[in-house]
Formats: sequence, structure tokens, C-alpha cells
Amino acid sequence: MNLYSLKMRASKSQDGIEKHISGAEKITGEDSLFIYSKALLTRALYHSKGKADFINIKIEKVNQEDILFLDALPVTTVNVSSYQDGIQKLLAMLEKIGITNASAVLEKLKDTYNMRGAMLLNVDTLERLEPNKDRGIRATYMDEVNSVMKKKDTKDHYNEAIVLATKVAYAPNIIGEICISDDPDYVTGYVASKENGYMRITKLKEMGSEDGGRIFLYRGDHSKVQDCIDYIEKREVLVKNISSILNKPYKTEESTKNKWNFIDKALENLKYNNLYRTMNEIKSAQSAHVTFQGKEMIMMASNNYLDMSNDSQVKAYALKAMGKYGVGSGGSRLTTGTINLHNQLEELLAVFKGTEAALVYNTGYMANIGIISALCSKDDVIFSDELNHASIIDGCCLSKAKIVVYRHNDMNDLEDKIKQNPCSKGLVVSDAVFSMDGDIVNLPQLVEIADKYGLFSMIDEAHSTGVIGENGRGTMEYFHMTRNPDIIMGTLSKAIGSEGGFVCGKQELIEYLKNKSRSFIFSTSLSPAVMAASIKSIELIMDEPQRVQALQENIQYFCNCLREAGIEADSETAIIPIIIGDEKSAMEISRELFEQGYYISAIRYPTVKKGCARLRVALMSTHNKDELKRAARVIAAIVNRYKRMREYV
Ligand code: PMP
Repeated sequence: MNLYSLKMRASKSQDGIEKHISGAEKITGEDSLFIYSKALLTRALYHSKGKADFINIKIEKVNQEDILFLDALPVTTVNVSSYQDGIQKLLAMLEKIGITNASAVLEKLKDTYNMRGAMLLNVDTLERLEPNKDRGIRATYMDEVNSVMKKKDTKDHYNEAIVLATKVAYAPNIIGEICISDDPDYVTGYVASKENGYMRITKLKEMGSEDGGRIFLYRGDHSKVQDCIDYIEKREVLVKNISSILNKPYKTEESTKNKWNFIDKALENLKYNNLYRTMNEIKSAQSAHVTFQGKEMIMMASNNYLDMSNDSQVKAYALKAMGKYGVGSGGSRLTTGTINLHNQLEELLAVFKGTEAALVYNTGYMANIGIISALCSKDDVIFSDELNHASIIDGCCLSKAKIVVYRHNDMNDLEDKIKQNPCSKGLVVSDAVFSMDGDIVNLPQLVEIADKYGLFSMIDEAHSTGVIGENGRGTMEYFHMTRNPDIIMGTLSKAIGSEGGFVCGKQELIEYLKNKSRSFIFSTSLSPAVMAASIKSIELIMDEPQRVQALQENIQYFCNCLREAGIEADSETAIIPIIIGDEKSAMEISRELFEQGYYISAIRYPTVKKGCARLRVALMSTHNKDELKRAARVIAAIVNRYKRMREYV
């Protein structure tokens, strides 16, 4: 089989300067050349650092006899609690390989921050040996053996780093290498040498810092400098036996009893699987437009569906309450934490939902865990939709009841499961509007089935309150039902724009929960300003139904725009999912949308199933039609491009 070296470099021009985006290479058989070329091209075109302006793909035939096979350096992980600790470990490691001026050597790393390649440094004289100081030395013509034989995934950064470190470790007169990534989210770096292997140090810089670089550590007279550079830049190397960090427990230099190991490992695995989460800091009120990272963006990810969170009347009323009652509530509801605003809000909620009574919890999450665990216990059975919100799932677990999960919104499956699991006391529980799919529960049938078998029925109206039904009263209004489910739970944190959770139902249910629901009883109640905001917001929704109508019109309009642009979309709720599939593409699409001024979140495992990552568009009543039309076009252009690319690769 003919072998080829395949290389890709991608860059973009930024403020007149060529900025590196991505680089990768493979040594591969002729039969895999086509597929790898496309994969590397894809990587260049759709990289999270942006779109490439220049892409260089170079393919050269490699003489099999010229290939040097090397065993991968053994990997050791050193877990450290701070980057300062990490630096100390790195210096100690340099000393171990005979470098006496380790701090001065490390200091030189700063000079590499803007270089594409590595610095070649004489560790004794601190002289830089690379002929072109801007470019540095680039290690190329290398790959892992598996990649030739097994067509491995091309995006394996961990393996790529070990391949490079192994090749460099065997270069003439090289005694080691230091590498810190310039990726602001990746703080792990390494020091590698032939003698001591590849030592990963879990923290070598502050999170968020883009300071990274690479030094090849040279020792000896300079007669071998050219040989060293030629080897690193030109010799074909294939590396064997790379051990996986994911399947094997870490070999740590320190005691294996280090209690922090599991955390470091868990975080590392999350990053490796594109599941690591960070928080975004928004610098303005949460409204249809927000300020994020210094620029104005269209917010299409917020649950503030009716924009009540930033409504001037709501804010004024909350301020007034704060002036009168102060900021904190001072106690839990059953001690000193009930003021007239708490009672007023509960009365209003009961009217809004058409029930006898209501009870406010501090969050929707606390409401779900508190209600379910108070109603059910170990001899009971809970029938729960497979896509129910995490707070319902946690409530079910907390109750210790038997949990039977039925297929999503499948009432036949629900009934079958009820027949298979007879019980003297049980509950059927479902999201009303599913938080990641935006579809609506078949409530009339759910209630009918629960009634038929003498079970409690419960729905979570987090995303239906203020959104569906002619006046935004939720699912019962949407279905024109006369029989309510037994337990109507909801949140005040979404369309109501404030904070808190609630439950509406019969008076006796509410009395029971006041006495038995631990998350209600054992937590300081919500503050007066929050209560006032919820009251004013619900009053406005009741008095001005045009707010809900504006949201419902926007939903229809935006779905039409998406369909016209070739994206499947059919939602009656403010949640419009656009399914992407793999986590990485979803993240990249979301990042591209951010760059274009659209704040749209990518939702991935564990919030949704693995491989079902999606964009979750959330609309507001205050988005205007023009911006929705433009948004639909931009989203469709990016998503369709990814789809085409995936079909092709
Ligand atoms: N239920 C559902 C369906 C939700 O989506 C959420 C919030 N994402 C909650 C409950 C929890 O509500 P809160 O944020 O008020 O705790």
C-alpha cells in the first residue's frame, strides 16, 4: 500500500495579521487519503476559532522504508491544585533532566506566545537556535500507527500531542520539551523527555489565559542543530502503543490516594468529550437584546418569554416592595418569612390557574422535589415520562418510590405500564411543555388514564404558563379542559420573569404540602421584591392578553421563516429545538451564531440524550419580526452547511 503524508494548515486574516486557526496532519494509506482530506478540510472550515481564509492542504508520498517507528512515551499525570503548584512541578522535572537554570529556561516560554512553531533553545546558554524566530520549528511528518491501520478519528488532540512529544524526544541533542496550550479553556500542559516520559501536569496556567507555547530543549554544541531541525521537520515518524487516558486510571506521580484525582479526571473527560460547561456573563438586563462580551446580541435562549423580567411596571413594583419591606425575608415560611405579599401571590396564582389554592416554593426545582417526595414513598409507584425535567426525576428518586418510565408522551405505553405495575397509591407525572423539545403533553388523556386507575396526576407547567392557551394560563386552557390534573406545578422564573416555583390544586393538597414538604418548610422564603415582581407580572398577563398573543404570533412567524429556509420547525411553544446530533457540531454552530450576534444555546448531554445535541431557540414576545426573519436565515445557512458537510464526510 502506498503511504502519503497529508497536512493541513488553516489561518485567517485579522487586522491585517495572519492568525492561525488549526493545523493537523496524518500519515495514511492511499485508500484513506480521500476521507482524511475531507475530514481535515472540514476541520479547517468549521473550526471554533472561526472560518479560515487560507487553507493549505499538502499531500506527499512517503517512502515506507524511510519511516521511523517509535514507542510512545509513557504517560504520567501529575495532579496539582493550582497552576503555581504545576509550575513548581515543571521546574522540578526540568531539574531532574539536568537543567540547572530551570526558571530562566521557563521564562523563555513568554517569547513563544505569538509563534506558530516551537522555540529551539540551548538550555545552557539560553541561545535561540531556530533560524526564523517568528516562525519557529514545526514538528511535522508524524502520526500514530493506529491511524494508518484503523482509520481512527482525526480529532484526537491527546494522541496528537503524544505523537509530537515522542517524535521530538528522539531528536538529536534534544533533552526534553515544554508545552503549554494557548487554548484559554485548556490549562493542562506537559514536560516530556526520553528518560522520564510524557508528564502531564493538570494545571500550568490560569483558566482563561491564552498564554501558551512550546520549547524544544537542546543541549550540546551547535554542529547538530541542522540535523535536529531536519529530523523534527522532515523525518517521517509513526508512533506505536499510545495508552489512552480515558480507559485507564491515571498513573499519578503522587499518592494514588489523592482525594482530588477523581475531580481532575472527571473534568478532563468532560473536556475531551466536548461536555465541559462554563458560564457566560451577560452585562445587561435579560431582554430581547443583551450585551455580551462587549457587543449587543439578540437573545434567543432565555426563558423570559414575555420579557417580564425587564418590564418597567414589574421593576417599579418590586422596588416599591423592597423600599417598604427590605431585601431579605428573614425566615422560612412557617417561622417569620411570610408577609402579605406571599399570601397575595398564592391567592393570585390560584385564580390564574383556576384552582382552590396555591403554594409558593423558592424555585421550580424545589417545588418538584418537595411535592413529589411529600406525596410518594417507598411502597408507591411513580409513572414518569422519559423526557421529564431533572427536577421531577430528582423528586422521584428522593421519594424512594418505584419509578416506572414510560415512552415520551405515549399514552398507550403509559397505560400498559400502569397495568404491569399495579399499586395502591401512585402518581403519573409529566412536563406540560417539554423543556428541550417544546412539545405539549397529551393532558386530557393523561388525566383520564390516571383517573381510571385511581392515580394522582401531576404536570409541570414551567414552560406552558404565560405561553400556551388563549390567555397564557397554560395547558388546561390550551386543551379547553374542565377537569384539572390533581397537581399543577409551575415556575415563576420563566414567562413570569421573576423567581420561584408554585403548586396549585385542592385546598387539602396545599395544607398537606405546607406541613409535609421539606423543601418548602426548611428554607428561607423568597424576598419581598421577588414576590412583588411575580404579583405584578401575573396581573399584567391577566390584564393585557396581547402580551401572550404577541409571543404566540412570533412563534408561528419564526417557525414559518425557518421552514421557508429549509429547517424543520413546528412548535406551538416558545421552545423551538433544532436538532443537530453530535455535541461538537452543536457547540460549533452555537459559537458561529454567537459571532454573528445571536445568543442561541447548544444543549447537549446530560440535558438531552447523547448524540441528540441541539440548538434550543427560545422566543420572546418582544422580538420583532424583522430580526426573527433575519435570525431564521442565518441559522438555516449555518445549520444547512453543517448538514451538507456531514453528508459529504
Ligand atoms: N421544571 C422544568 C420543566 C424546567 O424547565 C425547570 C427549569 N429549567 C424547572 C422545573 C426548575 O425551575 P426553576 O428554574 O425555577 O428552579
